[in-house]
Amino acid sequence: MKKPLRRVLTVTAGAILVGSGVAWYAILGRTRIIDLAPNLFVLHTSSFGRPIGGNVTVLVGDTTLLVFDTELSPLTTRLKRLISTRSRLPIQTIINSHWHPDHNGGNERLRAPGTELVAHPSVRDRLASGSEGFGLTRPGSHHRFDRRGEDALPTVLVEDSLIRQFGRDRIVVHYAPGAHTGGDLWAVIPEAGVVLLGDIVWPGSFPFVDTHSGGTAPGLLAALQHIMDVVPGKITAVPGHGLPLDRPSLAAYLGMLASTLASVTNHRQAGHTLEETQEAGLPEYAAWASRLTPTDEWIRMIYETVGESSLPPSADSNGRTEPAEGVAIKELDGPH
Ligand SMILES: [Zn+2]
Repeated sequence: MKKPLRRVLTVTAGAILVGSGVAWYAILGRTRIIDLAPNLFVLHTSSFGRPIGGNVTVLVGDTTLLVFDTELSPLTTRLKRLISTRSRLPIQTIINSHWHPDHNGGNERLRAPGTELVAHPSVRDRLASGSEGFGLTRPGSHHRFDRRGEDALPTVLVEDSLIRQFGRDRIVVHYAPGAHTGGDLWAVIPEAGVVLLGDIVWPGSFPFVDTHSGGTAPGLLAALQHIMDVVPGKITAVPGHGLPLDRPSLAAYLGMLASTLASVTNHRQAGHTLEETQEAGLPEYAAWASRLTPTDEWIRMIYETVGESSLPPSADSNGRTEPAEGVAIKELDGPH
């Protein structure tokens, strides 16, 4: 089928499903298992080659499972079924990389009595009280997320690092201050050389930095640099969205981050306004622009956060910030 026709069919079917109140991605999306090792796999959902929601990684231990991120809630039934095709062991640990709902939507239903739920304290805060999301689907978008029930809330709060043993595999969880959000966790399984990135890296495009919830461009760069420093040798890195990456791909991504941050910093230090900096653009990196983070947005994310400490001054100790005054509320629909 030719691509434009595919797109028309996808959009039409999506519109019908949205109109009927059904999550279109739960019907049209295809979820496949990507094996990283005999006891380690990723559940990756996509529709016509585009990722849907977030990746879910499962580590199988001797007697229990660990799950890193839990996707959008309408996909939970499918996740449970696919996990059970590989292992029927109980889930001992769920880790949420951050508060965005495409990474924790399945918390309630994947969790069992005794399951620990690991996240940064600001994630618990946001899930418990409800939250506003800005730019999560495209520049200027706004979503309001209701507060979640007790079953969805983290029980083990990580402000620095945490170690768990699953069978012969050790997993080390790290906090990355002020990166994609103000409450990002990433993890490494050192013996397997596998890194679970959350949304610190966006394969093939500029990253999305949630500047409304404590994310900063320098923090994102520092997080990726730290990951590459502490994980020597070969790496298989699972991003929050998209397919796994190797070390050379991460190095290229790091190079793009460093160059674009340097360029925008130079403009800012030269006294150029944000608009002037956007006018100059990032011509060498035009191919990295995406619908979620076009070049102007990436420049804004850098310009507003570069040169500051790991968290913006307006963030409280949990990395929360109030929405900027005057932010337009344009829509209230679900996350993608
Ligand atoms: Zn995210």
